[in-house]
Order: sequence, then structure tokens, then C-alpha cells
Amino acid sequence: MNSGPNPDIDTAAMALHLADGRRLELSVMNYIGGVTALVVTGFALYRYQTGDINGAIINTVIVAILVLTLLLGRSRRFAPHALNLFGLTITASSLLSALLVSSNGLLWSFLVIWINCVILPRALAVGLNGLVIVALAITTRLFDSALEQISWITVALLMAGFGLIFTDQLRQQRRLLAEQATLDPLTGAGNRRLMQQHLEATVAERRRNANFSSTIMVIDLDLFKQINDNYGHEAGDRVLERFAASVRSALRLEDGLYRMGGEEFVVLLRGMSAVTAATALPELHERLSGSVPGPEGTIRFSAGAAILKSGEDWSRWLARADNALYEAKQAGRDRLVIAAGEPVPGL
Ligand code: GH3
Ligand code: MG
Ligand code: MG
Repeated sequence: MNSGPNPDIDTAAMALHLADGRRLELSVMNYIGGVTALVVTGFALYRYQTGDINGAIINTVIVAILVLTLLLGRSRRFAPHALNLFGLTITASSLLSALLVSSNGLLWSFLVIWINCVILPRALAVGLNGLVIVALAITTRLFDSALEQISWITVALLMAGFGLIFTDQLRQQRRLLAEQATLDPLTGAGNRRLMQQHLEATVAERRRNANFSSTIMVIDLDLFKQINDNYGHEAGDRVLERFAASVRSALRLEDGLYRMGGEEFVVLLRGMSAVTAATALPELHERLSGSVPGPEGTIRFSAGAAILKSGEDWSRWLARADNALYEAKQAGRDRLVIAAGEPVPGL
């Protein structure tokens, strides 16, 4: 069961993060990694031809690691590792090129510092950039004069500092946009768009794993219009906020709460089987209906639930739950109806 100020905001942002995951970071890595791999391949071929076998081997190893990182980046699961590996590779390459090959590497290090800030988690970026700056700053032979050394250190520190500030602001903005695009501003519940994304993902998971069964429950507050009519829209809004908070606090972190519109909500209970739903959902309804205070007594609600069938799409699944809700209203409100589902083995 979750708690906290507004866990749904985190859940939604997390979901978007997962769905959209590090798109910017990966595209920076793909462009720069792709171009670098091509350029270094050119160097490797040139070195083979001119007999610099050691140099050619080092270049080939760099290209191989870059290609590996780009391939890893295509997999959702390994993308964060790919970004870290890419950061490590470009950091090591720039250090080696500055320390072993030529002081031109000092210039490349600026680019590496910036890329690290953009693609890596903050702590790793700070660590790797600190290493680059310290390792090069103390290698006095790389600089023609103390003034050049101090200038390089100053620019490198500014680059690392501004890179971090820029990336932090970018990530904050992205998070804010993600929240605005997916959450209902009044209740903090997910909006329809997020609901559809999550239902589609749940259906896809069920297709991959026949044992993974999930349940949705559509909730509609009973006689809600009376609250608006008798106490005003503001009072109705407060009820919606309190109701959403109360449902959210009864859900697990992996579940979802969405506002379909008006006083209608959808709860997604991921991984909840028909057997569990048969006992857990009536308990949930009993616990929540009548638990939230309103201006004229506690708030009661009707609900319709449906367990995802194999081969069913998300809209059909939702329609079955909606029909069950309609039945609950017809039968006199303040009750739960579970739509008939697939036969459960052993029952
Ligand atoms: P029933 O038990 O049959 O569901 O009755 P009801 O009164 O709840 O149903 P109805 O659909 O007639 O009323 C829903 C009301 O919800 C009508 C609308 O004014 C109100 N509503 C929709 N969105 C909002 C909102 O954002 N804030 C407030 N305060 N009211 C809203
Ligand atoms: Mg309604
Ligand atoms: Mg209603």
C-alpha cells in the first residue's frame, strides 16, 4: 500500500520516464558515438596501411566498444548501462589521447566534459569530469605556460559547472512537461492518455506472459451532481481531491489511478488475478465507499470491474468494466459488479 504526499505524480513521471526513457541522452550518444566510430574507423584503416599496428589496434578496440554501446542503447533494458559505458569510453579515450598522444587532447576534453554532463547521471558525471580535470590539470607538460594551464582549468571547471546546471534545468523541465502531459491537475491522478498507455502496456505484458492477469475497476461517484448543485462546484472539487487521495492510499505502488473525466475514475490493478479480484475488490469497495467525508455525508460510489481476457484489447477490456459499472448503477448504486470473465481453472 502506498502513502506519501502524491505518489501518483512519481508513478506517472516514472512511467513516462520508462516509456520515453532517456530519449535525449540516447540521441546525443547515437549521433556523437556514430560519427566518432566512423572517424576512428578511418584512423584505424590509415594506421593499418602505414604499419602503425599498435595504434590501429587501439583504434579498432575503441570502435568495437562504441559499436557495442550503440547496440546496447537500442535495448530498453540496457540503455542506462550503454550511456554509462559510453561516458566511460569517451572519458578514457580523451584522457589517453591527451596524456599519451598529444596535448590536442586538452581540447577534446571540453567536449567530453559537456557530453558527460548531458548523458550521465549527476554523480557519475561529476566523478568522471573531476577525474579528467584533475588528471590533466596536474600534468604540467601539457601546457606551454602557467597562464595556459590556469586558463584551461578555469574553462574546464566552468564547462563542468554550467553543464551540470544546464542538464539539471533541462531534466526538471522535462519532468514538469511529462507531469503536465499525463496528470489531471485537480486530483493528481493520471489522465486518459496515461491510462491508455498503461492499459496498452498491461495488455502487451499479458500477451507475453499468459499467467500475468490484471484487473481494472471503473468508479463513478454516486449522486455527485447534488453536491455541486447544493454546495457549489468548489465543494465538489474538494470532494474529488479527497476521494482520489483516499483511493491512491489504498493502492500498491504498481497500481494506477486515472481520472477518466468528471467524477469517474479508473483503477488499474496490475497482476491481480480473477481469484484475488473476487475477494480483494469487494473488500476495497467496502473500505473506500463511505470513507471520504462530503458536505452532506460520506461519499459513496459504484464500481465495475473486469479481469483482462487473453486476446482482448484495452478498449474492449475497459468497455466490459464500464458495462459492469452501468449494471451496478442500475442495481441501486453503492456496489461493485465484476464482469463475467474467463473460466478460472479449479473453481
Ligand atoms: P450517478 O449516481 O448516476 O452517477 O449520479 P451523478 O449525479 O453522480 O451523475 P452525473 O453524471 O449526472 O453527474 C456528474 C456531475 O459531475 C455532473 C458535473 O457537473 C460534475 N462534474 C464533472 N466534472 C467536474 C469537476 O471537475 N468538478 C466538479 N465539482 N464537478 C464536476
Ligand atoms: Mg458520471
Ligand atoms: Mg456519478
